[in-house]
Amino acid sequence: MPLLDADRELTRHSYYAATASREAPFPALQGDVHADVAVVGGGLAGLSAAIELHDRGFDVVLLEAQDVGWGASGRNGGQAIHGLACDQEVIEQQLGLEEARRVWAMSIEALDLIRQRIARFAIDCDWRDGYLGVATNDRKARELRAWVDRIASVYGYAQTWIERAELPNWIASPRYAAGAYDPRSGHLHPLKYSLGLASAAARLGVRIYERSAVTALETGDTVRLRTAHGHVSARSALLAGNVYLQQFAPAVAPQLAARIMPVGTYIVATRPLGAERAHALIPCGAAVCDTNFVLDYFRTSADHRLLYGGRVSYSTATPMNLAASMRRRMVRTFPQLDGVEVEHAWGGFVDISMNRAPDFGRVGANVYYLQGFSGHGLALTGLAGKLVAEAIAGDASRFDTFARLKHRPFPGGRLLRMPALVAGMAWYRLRDLF
Ligand SMILES: Cc1cc2nc3c(=O)[nH]c(=O)nc-3n(C[C@H](O)[C@H](O)[C@H](O)COP(=O)(O)OP(=O)(O)OC[C@H]3O[C@@H](n4cnc5c(N)ncnc54)[C@H](O)[C@@H]3O)c2cc1C
Repeated sequence: MPLLDADRELTRHSYYAATASREAPFPALQGDVHADVAVVGGGLAGLSAAIELHDRGFDVVLLEAQDVGWGASGRNGGQAIHGLACDQEVIEQQLGLEEARRVWAMSIEALDLIRQRIARFAIDCDWRDGYLGVATNDRKARELRAWVDRIASVYGYAQTWIERAELPNWIASPRYAAGAYDPRSGHLHPLKYSLGLASAAARLGVRIYERSAVTALETGDTVRLRTAHGHVSARSALLAGNVYLQQFAPAVAPQLAARIMPVGTYIVATRPLGAERAHALIPCGAAVCDTNFVLDYFRTSADHRLLYGGRVSYSTATPMNLAASMRRRMVRTFPQLDGVEVEHAWGGFVDISMNRAPDFGRVGANVYYLQGFSGHGLALTGLAGKLVAEAIAGDASRFDTFARLKHRPFPGGRLLRMPALVAGMAWYRLRDLF
């Protein structure tokens, strides 16, 4: 099944879409317009860049193929978490410890940036402090402890360690052997946040066009982008289209395609459980994630549901019986929810890079791109947009820290890439089990 068809199906039953209200849609691009910078993609990466560019005095046009927040940014687990999707060792090996420390510090800046933007633009998006990482067996608990100690000693970032005996005060699940709590991370309603940023950007003066897929790009001193009914010419451009860029515009930057793979991930929402019952599940109120490679991630919502995410799919087809299979995962973690109905099931695709490190760079001198957030982009996209704005304003030092990271392409064309990824993931799944 083509990815976009699968994706349309996956958005239909989103809890977020059912609980966020959109203002009047932005117009589609008609005719020719000029700007300092053209941003392709109205997810968190593109919106963040647009706001930061505007703050630095640039005139910005943002083009979105569907509606703003339609992609991963409006559908994710809502968990804003420290660090990157890959281990810090990946960054240390490539860039050395000092640069790795800079990268870690930027991941924390990304968390602060969310709080600042919520306050600055008065975005009502159910933000809540706290993230709890949990280990599913004793070996993983030892690994988690070693990681917490290393992040504290090498990166100066302290978290609260929780032994098995104390865990019931934090989470009412028999599954976990230990946990680590970080008060600086947190969670929110990602579609409300994305729409809030879009409204804020528009109020600032960013010109946003929806239903305006960019289908061609001409590079040069002036960049020209084509949509069905118009053109944008600009001095610089940003491609922030996630896995969807290759779907809407395979000819725009084909050299980026093999650097990421689209991997499906899914979430269900229970019916409202009531404040007391929801609180009893996760008394600390944090977003929770286990440390497995194919991980489960969950949290309670402002209207007291449990939102439970997990599974992966390497084909674009939506898994059979999605809601029922996700429900089984949820009940394995919270047996007390046996019999509770699931009201929403949805999902989307994440842009996995081979080493799970983000992939930022340039296509020509004045066309930037952001991709490869590898399922860990809710906070990091905000920072990434800021780094692009800094680079376009003349200081690319922080952007280039990321751009120096080397990425191996997935081997072969799309048909060959898939088995390589599946084989790798199967091995990690076995590691999770034993
Ligand atoms: C189910 C799910 C759960 C997740 N959970 C978490 C989580 O809990 N925590 C976390 O940190 N991360 C999570 N992620 C990942 C996170 O959502 C992403 O990393 C992040 O939202 C990526 O933002 P983005 O702006 O790069 O992409 P997107 O939000 O996908 O935005 C890209 C936009 O570009 C547009 N576009 C593409 N091509 C074109 C074109 N040619 N012309 C015009 N527009 C175009 C698309 O329509 C799309 O709206 C999850 C992702 C999914 C799918």
